[in-house]
Amino acid sequence: MSLGEFDLIERYFSRRGRRRDVLLGVGDDAALLEVPPGRALVAAVDTLVEGRHFLPDAPPESVGHQALAVNLSDLAAMGAEPAWALLSLSLPEPDEAWLQPFAAGLYALAERNGVALVGGDTVRGPRVVTVTALGFVEPSLALRRDGARPGDVLFVSGWPGEAGAGLEALRGGAVHGGDDALVRRYRYAEPRIALGRALRGRASAAMDVSDGLLGDLQKLCKASAVGACLDLGRLPVSAELARRHPREDCERFVLFGGDDYELLFTVPADRADGVEAGAPAGLPVHRVGVIEAGAGVRCERDGRVEVVRGGGYDHFA
Ligand code: ADP
Ligand code: MG
Repeated sequence: MSLGEFDLIERYFSRRGRRRDVLLGVGDDAALLEVPPGRALVAAVDTLVEGRHFLPDAPPESVGHQALAVNLSDLAAMGAEPAWALLSLSLPEPDEAWLQPFAAGLYALAERNGVALVGGDTVRGPRVVTVTALGFVEPSLALRRDGARPGDVLFVSGWPGEAGAGLEALRGGAVHGGDDALVRRYRYAEPRIALGRALRGRASAAMDVSDGLLGDLQKLCKASAVGACLDLGRLPVSAELARRHPREDCERFVLFGGDDYELLFTVPADRADGVEAGAPAGLPVHRVGVIEAGAGVRCERDGRVEVVRGGGYDHFA
């Protein structure tokens, strides 16, 4: 972006953070960052494209929040402590009425989690937001997808399905305002960083649920070369979801809705009892099934097999 590019960066993306491990932040050719000794650097990147990952009329605060949240969620799923972020921004024009709230949404989440924005890139083009998040974790304690073993107990955090129902309500024109509880869950999903940290050394495998519980569980099973039995009767359905939709639709949202960024994780059976009590205050975790030998996910209800149809989101499907 020619005119205003440097002013734009200076005005909106140059807040000085308090992290002492940022030896050099925004303004030089690249950032200089100090990783604590003995930790591995954990890196994640995600891109949001207008019209595909956020609606053109989405409040800019929520786009700023989401762009960072999806990445912090990936770090949470690794058990990592988030530290730094880079922002690559493509915009049709330097629209301050959009940039100001966008930056506010991004910095609000960053500052709440002690994350410093240390660099980025700014170009003219269609509205596309890419964030890279960096953090660290003790390599032997990192939560991976490939550690689930037969007999492990399967858990999911929080209230999956709410965000998917919020998105559907927005798309269907059923709600407009930002004060709808489900829409807020979609726009302002909270990355489960404290839970991910608490699961280090406890969970045998973990991932964040971005594309729907069932599809993401299949990915975890594949990575671990195991199968899973999911107990439909144990799926957590939030009070808000239950109030607004019949049970069958609630289950569909929980199984296939994306964008909640809850954590899906497995714990060896002999360690599973302390998990609920060990979760961060205010965040319930729910036992939803068990890991089995074999491959793929089967669903049961009251001990009987039930066939579930539908799918998660696949960009190339
Ligand atoms: P270069 O040409 O060396 O890549 P840029 O002009 O792209 O430099 O960026 C100048 C400085 O501003 C760099 O430190 C870069 O990391 C930072 N920066 C550029 N765009 C952003 C942005 N959207 N958010 C945060 N920092 C940015
Ligand atoms: Mg550049």
